[in-house]
Amino acid sequence: MIRVLPENLINQIAAGEVVERPASALKELIENSLDAGATSIAITFEEGGKKRMVVEDDGSGIEKSELSTALHRHATSKLPTDDLMSINFYGFRGEALASIASVAKVRITSNNGGGAFEIEADYGKISPLRPASLNRGTRIEIEDIFARTPARLKFLKSDNTEASYINDIISKMAAANPLVSFFVNGKKKYGVTPGLDFSESLKERLADVIGPDFIHNSLYLEALSEGVRIRGYVGVPSFNRPNNSDTLFFVNGRFVRDKLIISAVKNAYSDVLFSGRHPVIGLFIDVPAKDIDVNVHPQKLEVRFRESGRIFAFIASTIKARLASADVSSVKGSSEEKNFMAKVASLEMSVSEPSFPSHDFVAPMSASLPVDFAEMTGAVEASEDVDKPLGIAVAQIAKTFIVAKNVNGLVLVDQHAAHERVVYEKIKSALEKEETIPTQMLLIPEVVNIASPSIILNAADELMRIGFVIEAFGENAVLVRETPAVFGDFDVVDFVSELAAYLKEEGKAKNFDERIKYICTTRACHSSIRAGKELSLAEMNALLREMEKTPNFSACGHGRPTYVEFNGKTLAKLFKRT
Ligand code: ADP
Ligand code: MG
Repeated sequence: MIRVLPENLINQIAAGEVVERPASALKELIENSLDAGATSIAITFEEGGKKRMVVEDDGSGIEKSELSTALHRHATSKLPTDDLMSINFYGFRGEALASIASVAKVRITSNNGGGAFEIEADYGKISPLRPASLNRGTRIEIEDIFARTPARLKFLKSDNTEASYINDIISKMAAANPLVSFFVNGKKKYGVTPGLDFSESLKERLADVIGPDFIHNSLYLEALSEGVRIRGYVGVPSFNRPNNSDTLFFVNGRFVRDKLIISAVKNAYSDVLFSGRHPVIGLFIDVPAKDIDVNVHPQKLEVRFRESGRIFAFIASTIKARLASADVSSVKGSSEEKNFMAKVASLEMSVSEPSFPSHDFVAPMSASLPVDFAEMTGAVEASEDVDKPLGIAVAQIAKTFIVAKNVNGLVLVDQHAAHERVVYEKIKSALEKEETIPTQMLLIPEVVNIASPSIILNAADELMRIGFVIEAFGENAVLVRETPAVFGDFDVVDFVSELAAYLKEEGKAKNFDERIKYICTTRACHSSIRAGKELSLAEMNALLREMEKTPNFSACGHGRPTYVEFNGKTLAKLFKRT
């Protein structure tokens, strides 16, 4: 029997595409607020958004008579003509509110200047309009999302993980809209200073989103060519990251992960950045709406440029020229420098402490150093962890080595090698105990282009055992949906490409254990904790404690040592004191 599906069922099916999780529903609401010209958006959420999400804006508001229309599928005010070629709004499909309203309790309160009204939808059942109270603007409340669609609910992660997806979405929307203030759970998280121009506002916003050090280590650029404008901040090469999480592009105000732009940027940095490292960037690319198609990707993360070759060349050459025009040799002016000096000073103090076995160590040098050591070392000494084999972290050197002190003396840890070991042993022990490996779902499944996906797909079952969920995706790509939780944050694309090369060559002949070992060591090479990542004392201490729990913690997967210890005697020798 062929039948026309009831509207609510159609909406629920559409919701499967539009609203994967609370964060994606929230993104739609924020986009609607921006489309309505809001200058201030207040977001609150509870229990990772599962319980409740509220978005309130000071935008145009919705006309009383249109409140119920807004809840219907394919109802939109944003395509006044039927021309798909000229889209200047985030939304245009008119399906977000209808989809969300089919899988949650939704209340819309709005005032477009003619008084406030509200309407409710209870899992698709729309209630009559009633008067309400609200200043000009719109408030949308969503409660108990997916409570009636258990399959969806089951697929959600912990409240904390869902909250982190939400915060990630908010930070991307905030970066894309530097002239709009964002309040999150009652706090002004991304503010706007009145009177600043775009470049200054963007600078402030990127400092909030990426971190204040970016500002000292980036260059502003702006260029226009045949209707295409690019502007924003590009990081100096030495200020780089192990993954692309801080490489942000906005095409016509929309956050994208577009392959063409990524490769143009790669090209621009190719001579000045080590391969495998990623620049830090906040770049806006504005293209006339008719020269671009944002409709290619359901989550609109990819765009299609009509003249891709020209865009590529324009982006690559502009960034290249900007980098060449400045002295970009080193990370400068940051708080990092000061921290480092302070850490070095406190390190010298710990060496001269009387806890060392030889009285020779009580050296008078500390008196001449310009830092108040008593205060600095006090907190550290309160900890009992000094008795543990790897002691207490006191500093990080060259973003690569952890300096710790234990009862014997000084311990130097290679953070990269150490982390590699920890991850490998965790996976191995879970496999031995035949436990399922906890996975983390990627907010946006990663598409990895590889020449012959079958190499990866043939190993999919094996990869599933250690926590990778990978599926076929067309002829020349695979789709990575989930990764092992212990792997943390890493560059999935680089990793899978490397894995494919390995499986094709030497990996074929190896047994499962050896392949797992390869995967863990390779993962570590793409991880955020690899050499080159600044760690806080808390993070360093956490890693030391993890190491102590790890079997064979003294050597990494490649057989290199993970740490070395200098006891008092060795140090004394170093200074020719014996
Ligand atoms: P779309 O954004 O694709 O048009 P939605 O389902 O997200 O579809 O929204 C439907 C309509 O509801 C919009 O076209 C707009 O007219 C109206 N609307 C939704 N949210 C707001 C808001 N915060 N302020 C003003 N109008 C809104
Ligand atoms: Mg919308």
